[in-house]
Amino acid sequence: MMSVRSLAGACLATVASLCVVAAPVSAQNYPTRTITMIVPFAAGGPTDVISRIVTANMAQTLGQSIVIENVVGAGGTTATTRAARAANDGYTLITGHMGTHAASVPLYPKLAYHPEKDFEPVALLAGTPILILARKDFPPKDLKEFVAYVKANAEKVNAAHAGVGSVSHASCELLNSILDVKPVGVPFNGTGPAMNALVAGQVDYMCDQIVNAVPQINAGTIKAYAIATPERNPSLPDVPTTAEAGLPAYQAQAWNAIFAPKGTPPSVIATLSAAATKALDDEAVRKRLLELGSVIPAPANRTPEALATLVRSEIAKWTPVLKPAT
Ligand code: ASP
Repeated sequence: MMSVRSLAGACLATVASLCVVAAPVSAQNYPTRTITMIVPFAAGGPTDVISRIVTANMAQTLGQSIVIENVVGAGGTTATTRAARAANDGYTLITGHMGTHAASVPLYPKLAYHPEKDFEPVALLAGTPILILARKDFPPKDLKEFVAYVKANAEKVNAAHAGVGSVSHASCELLNSILDVKPVGVPFNGTGPAMNALVAGQVDYMCDQIVNAVPQINAGTIKAYAIATPERNPSLPDVPTTAEAGLPAYQAQAWNAIFAPKGTPPSVIATLSAAATKALDDEAVRKRLLELGSVIPAPANRTPEALATLVRSEIAKWTPVLKPAT
C-alpha cells in the first residue's frame, strides 16, 4: 500500500488539482461523528444511569451524539476488555468504575487488560455510596439483627451481585469478610436486573450503589439497613450510617469514571474531559445526580491526572481486601 507521503509525491508528479490526499485523521476537528460509550452492565443499573445523565449533556457540548452500548458479562470485564482493544481515536469510550478499573485486578489473575496500562483516564463522574439492602420481607428489622441473622443462617442466605469484580460483588465481599460469612452469591448482568430480583423477593440481600437504590427505598419496595459512609445521604435522610447502626468497620463508596483506550490523542482526552466537567457543573445534571444520592466530585478531582491517581490508589486498596477471596 502507498504511504500518504508517497501518494502525495505521486500526486505532485501528476495533475495536482485532481488528486485528493487523505490526511491522517485529525484530532483537531474531533468529534466529527457519533461516539460510542460502552457501559459494562445492563441497562437501568447505576453505571448506565450515570452514563446516560452525563453523556446527554456532553453530547450537546461536543455537537455529536453519544450512543450507549451495554456490553454485559464477567462482572464488567468483558466490556472493559473490548474497550481496551478498541481504536484509540476517541470514538469508543467506556464508563468504568471501582470494579472494572480496580477490584477486578486481584479477582481475575488472567485479566486481559490493566486499568493503568491500557487506558487513558478521562474524567471522574460520580461517587456512589454503598448501601446494605434486602428484600422487603427479609426477617431482620435493623442492621444489628441483619448481622446476627446472616451469621446464624450463613448456609441459607444469598446475596445478589453483578458478577465477580463488580462493585456490588467487591463491596459485599468486604462486608462478608467483616461478618465472617460466605453467603451463596447470585450473579446478574448488572444490579439493574439484580434489583428487580430483590424487589421480587427472589434474592435476600445486596450491597449496591445508591443511584440504583434511592427510587426503590423511597417506594418502599426494598429494605435499607445502612449506608456505608461516614455521613447520612441527603437523598435518604432516614437511612442510618453503618457507624450509627452498629457496624462502623463497614465503609464502602464506589466511583464511576470515563476512560479511553491507551494512546487516544491528548487533545481528544482534553476535549472529552472538558465536556465531562462542564456536564458536572450543569444545573440539571447536578440535580438529577444529587437526587439519586451520588456525590459530585470537586473540579480538581475530575481531571485525568486525579483519576489516574485514584485508579492507582484503589487498586492498591482493594488488592489485599479481595486477594484472599479468590
Ligand atoms: N455498576 C453495576 C451496574 O451498573 C453493578 C456493579 O458494579 O455492581 O449494574
